[in-house]
Amino acid sequence: MVRTRFAPSPTGYMHIGNLRTALYEYLIARSNNGKFILRIEDTDRERYVDGAVDVIYKTLKTAGISHDEGPDVGGDFGPYIQSERKNNYIDYAKELIEKGEAYYCFCTKERLDEMRENSDETAAKYDRHCLSLSKEEIDENLKNNVPFVIRQKIKEGKTSFNDEVYGTITVDNSDIEDQILIKSDFLPTYNFANVIDDHLMGITHVIRGSEYLSSTPKYNLLYEAFGWEIPTYIHVPPVMKNATEKLSKRNGDASFQDLIDKGYLPEAIINYIALLGWSPSDNKEIFTMDELIQAFDVKGLSKSPSIFDITKLTWMNGEYIKKLNFDKFFEMVYPILKNAVKRDDIDLKILAGYIKTRIGTLNEISDMVDFVNDVKDYDNSLYVHKKMKTTEEISLNSLKKILPVLESMNNFDNDTIYDSLVSLARENELKNGQVLWPLRTALSGQPTSPCGASELAVLLGKEDTLNRVRAAINKLSV
Ligand code: GLU
Repeated sequence: MVRTRFAPSPTGYMHIGNLRTALYEYLIARSNNGKFILRIEDTDRERYVDGAVDVIYKTLKTAGISHDEGPDVGGDFGPYIQSERKNNYIDYAKELIEKGEAYYCFCTKERLDEMRENSDETAAKYDRHCLSLSKEEIDENLKNNVPFVIRQKIKEGKTSFNDEVYGTITVDNSDIEDQILIKSDFLPTYNFANVIDDHLMGITHVIRGSEYLSSTPKYNLLYEAFGWEIPTYIHVPPVMKNATEKLSKRNGDASFQDLIDKGYLPEAIINYIALLGWSPSDNKEIFTMDELIQAFDVKGLSKSPSIFDITKLTWMNGEYIKKLNFDKFFEMVYPILKNAVKRDDIDLKILAGYIKTRIGTLNEISDMVDFVNDVKDYDNSLYVHKKMKTTEEISLNSLKKILPVLESMNNFDNDTIYDSLVSLARENELKNGQVLWPLRTALSGQPTSPCGASELAVLLGKEDTLNRVRAAINKLSV
């Protein structure tokens, strides 16, 4: 059975590159009827950030990426938390010592610093000083409680492995350091715990960022040392901010939560990031999670980095908003509209209907509807529209003709207003746009508005409409 895992370190922040890794792990598990596991890798206490586990947990939940097993927390599955696991990682390290695949190292920090200072290499590897200690020396040190770490003994030769995305990778073992497996506080290093837990949790497919490609040989040497089966590796390229920089917290780039706060829908974010580095076999772009599970295939993963394109995400988000059921949409935007619209005679449902097809994110709403409160100062050049064949003069004339028509109207509904405006245009040998554009501009004071002239008039009501038309005539007359 396929078993994948998401193994984030709790850094307090989940950028969309991490989330994309989690998504691919989830999709590979789900599309193979396998299991997806969540494991928090928190043994590095120096990097630990309070509340970070909650961020991971909440992000996955909001994103619809559910994990399958873990410690029972009140009938629900919690994530596996590495620091809380009862595994005796040190016993595994001792097993390797017995097998001659690891050794105690008693070197002090001072000795290591000196060793590095005296070396010509910039990142000098451990010089294996303690590899040659006799059994008596080791026993004596242990008896005297001399602090120690346990190091992996990297054997000579070359290590080769196959990655599903990057192909065959071979490294010379002389380039790999005898890495620390157990630290002097008896806790495992991140690298060691990662391998032990992947084995104990029966992980068959390891999917992670390509920055781990270079660590993989030393992981494989551990699997070999234990005689364990090596998982299938699927390394994915980074998500970039631009051609040269990765997305990162340090660069102040968007985390999943930032995007949610900016008014993007979780489903749209998931859809967008699925396509960052993966191409479906056809050119389809909009996928629900179930459709992703159906369509996802590791063969579609690319090894070239992809650039996070907020414009594309905004477009996709707009497509999701258009497809939302109206009642659900209204429920989501009601608090925003209530706050943005400062008068109580506006039918918010009608307004919501107009904006639904015109926004990229929910955060655009407040600005888009602000015109209902009042007309902001605008330039008369807004009346000049090439396609509508309008000038300031034509607009002024049209508005002067529109005013009495609207004043005399008893039924102030969309059809009546629209038909009267079209008749007015016909009677005066004007194009429809030469009547509708000036009115639309007069009522909104903006180059764009969420609906056309007659709809704006209905929305604003007769009195406000007439006031705005009168104001526009005055403005154009000076
Ligand atoms: N804990 C690692 C990280 O947060 C995950 C490495 C892995 O998936 O093997 O990047």
